[in-house]
Amino acid sequence: MGNKKVVRDGHIHSPYCPHGTKDTFEMYVEKALNEGLEEITFTEHMPFPCYFIDDKEFQDECAPSKDVMDEYFKDVEKIKLKYKDKIKINSGLEVDFIEGYEEETKKLLNIYGPKLEDGLLSVHFIKIEDQYIAIDWKQGFEEALEKLGTLECVYDKYYETLLKAIKADLGDYKPRRIGHPNLIRIFNQLYPFEYKNTKLLEEVVREIKNRNYELDVNTAGLRKPYCGEIYVSGIFKELVNKYGVNQVYGSDSHTASDIGRDFDNE
Ligand SMILES: [Zn+2]
Ligand SMILES: [Zn+2]
Repeated sequence: MGNKKVVRDGHIHSPYCPHGTKDTFEMYVEKALNEGLEEITFTEHMPFPCYFIDDKEFQDECAPSKDVMDEYFKDVEKIKLKYKDKIKINSGLEVDFIEGYEEETKKLLNIYGPKLEDGLLSVHFIKIEDQYIAIDWKQGFEEALEKLGTLECVYDKYYETLLKAIKADLGDYKPRRIGHPNLIRIFNQLYPFEYKNTKLLEEVVREIKNRNYELDVNTAGLRKPYCGEIYVSGIFKELVNKYGVNQVYGSDSHTASDIGRDFDNE
């Protein structure tokens, strides 16, 4: 990417995110214009196909419910129209890969797919035995560490799940961009670890390249208290460059002020 100014933000949430802010679509777009962006995608979390963890309250916080999706897409259409001469706005979703729920996810994608112009496929949950654990909050990460025993096993599990996500058959509307591929490093300052399983990482990157998928170069990690880095980093980043995988910056904004944030940070 070098010194070329980044003019696209491919990962933005919306007022429909249960764990986000109520900042309006207008606020996000106005901030994008202020940042000099030329293209953005709203990638609200896709609703889950069903409850797959026991803690329903927690799961409800992760993604909006199916009931509001019509409104979400309508609002995106409205904002696109309103700003059509100023900025390109894409309608999208951030889709969770939930191991074992591929068919259900495909069914949902077949419903929303015709409305999608862009999108992300992300891994937030890893499956350990029969349990799904969200690794991007501290308690979940620590639970995974306790169950799997070592940081290396936790990282292995994350990248193995990512590999399954990349290979999964999620139908015609499967998103082509892999969200924050190094999310497992979200607590790397609390649990320092230099992951060296180059074989697995290389397989992940190769499979992305083979399918002509893209990567979400996600700057949200810089804002997390125990991360301090972008979610394409280290050995993974070297491999991404080696294979020439397409990269799209994403702020993962849950508030308008974060749009385009840290895009000049390499
Ligand atoms: Zn979110
Ligand atoms: Zn995400």
